[in-house]
Amino acid sequence: MSEYKKEDVVIIGAGPAGLTAAFELIKNNNFNVTVLEKNEKIGGLSRTTEYNGCKFDIGPHHFITQSDLVEVWWKEVMKGEEDHGNRFVQLKRFTRIYYKKHFFYYPLQPMNALFGLSIFESIRCIFSYIKIRLFPIKKVETFQDWVTNKFGYRLFSIFFKTYTEKVWGILCTQISSDWASERIKGFSLSKAIFYAFFGKWAKKNAPRTLSDTFYYPELGAGTLWQKVANQITNSSLGKIKLNSSVVQIKHNNKNIISVLTGDFNLPINSAKKLQEYKAEHFFSTMALRDLILSLDPLPEEKVLNAAKKLVYRGLITLNYIVNKSNISPDHWIYVHEKEVLMGRIGNMNNFSLKMVDDKNHTALSLEYFDFVTSSFWNLSDEQLLDIGKNELEQIGFLKKDLILDGMVLRETQAYPVYDKNYKESLKIVLYYLSGFSNLYLMGRNGLHKYNNMDIAMLSAFKVVNELIDKSKKQDNYFVNNYKNNSVSL
Ligand SMILES: Cc1cc2nc3c(=O)[nH]c(=O)nc-3n(C[C@H](O)[C@H](O)[C@H](O)COP(=O)(O)OP(=O)(O)OC[C@H]3O[C@@H](n4cnc5c(N)ncnc54)[C@H](O)[C@@H]3O)c2cc1C
Repeated sequence: MSEYKKEDVVIIGAGPAGLTAAFELIKNNNFNVTVLEKNEKIGGLSRTTEYNGCKFDIGPHHFITQSDLVEVWWKEVMKGEEDHGNRFVQLKRFTRIYYKKHFFYYPLQPMNALFGLSIFESIRCIFSYIKIRLFPIKKVETFQDWVTNKFGYRLFSIFFKTYTEKVWGILCTQISSDWASERIKGFSLSKAIFYAFFGKWAKKNAPRTLSDTFYYPELGAGTLWQKVANQITNSSLGKIKLNSSVVQIKHNNKNIISVLTGDFNLPINSAKKLQEYKAEHFFSTMALRDLILSLDPLPEEKVLNAAKKLVYRGLITLNYIVNKSNISPDHWIYVHEKEVLMGRIGNMNNFSLKMVDDKNHTALSLEYFDFVTSSFWNLSDEQLLDIGKNELEQIGFLKKDLILDGMVLRETQAYPVYDKNYKESLKIVLYYLSGFSNLYLMGRNGLHKYNNMDIAMLSAFKVVNELIDKSKKQDNYFVNNYKNNSVSL
């Protein structure tokens, strides 16, 4: 039998995209794969953290996709997990919006919305909708323009403005309309509002998201990714190196040669020895800004400046164990109330009762969006937990005395921001990176695309196929998309 050398692949990031790519490459049997992960755990934003017997996702992560390929893949991975008490269950979504002390069903139900908004406000919404249909905004540039054109200013201001500005930390007039067209197109809230207000006739055309069932692993979203990681490390072809932050990427302008990692969880005074990984191919899910700034040698000023303009929004989750069961029937509650800083409440019990240590307890996760430079971000965990408790009481959701315990998780790059200038910067960065023949970009921050797990996975499938069938790399989507634009470097 002829022995041939398997090619080495380094994958940066053990989130859904990185793990999917590693899993698929190992299946192909022609590659030795090393996944480098800066955290001490795998799963990225889709991991589950255990705290005092309760389990918390980074905001509950539901498994939903339009892709049969992805759905079959998830089910295949979860096969046999039922023997470990971890079924991949299908759930019916129940979500509400909290606005002006009322809960609105999501998708909206006309009577509930009318009652909650008052007849007067509902009439204003309808007139504002008619007005925008008659006199639409001609030059649609921002999120506000896009949504107002679709639904009228009143509905925009009630059901979109506050929450969106909490998530992004910039005014809706500063957010690119791309975000709306990418997300809201398939986003049930807007469609639900539309169907609720503008006629049952449209319901038969409702998108799949409105039927709203989803899958969830009973022991937490991250357990699916842990199973994938186990299969990678159980293979003789796969390794995952935790606490390995890629800080330097050596290249010769055509190819990536190696990456260097450090363990930044070590105490400040300990020697941070960098470890070098050489490979034939490199896959990356790290934030594009960080990738460019880690290049050695650095690219020219124009590319550096473009990378520096890519912005990321952080997320703090306040995770509480509450001494009460059945707090609310919701999976998520979107908090549109201006008076509080929280953006969303996730009730882990309603995803699975196995997420709590005791059936009389509830695991609640509160989401706060912020930039890492803000004073809020830098408050102590105790201060943050106090703010969360007070806000829960303020909105009448829960008496704070019922909270037994809590812990804080911080994600510095939870959202790639689509501000008005991001597209131009992204174009420059992607165009430059497309010059490396052995670099494959994928995932959420790896492509600066605000996407869910399934789309992150699809981006991994795509680049794995490109490597396996190298002729496809020439046909790189990003080169195709950007090479005809007048980007001068
Ligand atoms: C609050 C919230 C709720 C969400 N809810 C859902 C949901 O319900 N359903 C859904 O499908 N999706 C949801 N998502 C989106 C989902 O989390 C992402 O789509 C998915 O995790 C993206 O996978 P990824 O591998 O591209 O990126 P990530 O999950 O971000 O993983 C990237 C990995 O790379 C590592 N990394 C970064 N830089 C380096 C470096 N320099 N060196 C080494 N490692 C590095 C990171 O530590 C991380 O582990 C949600 C996201 C958020 C923030």
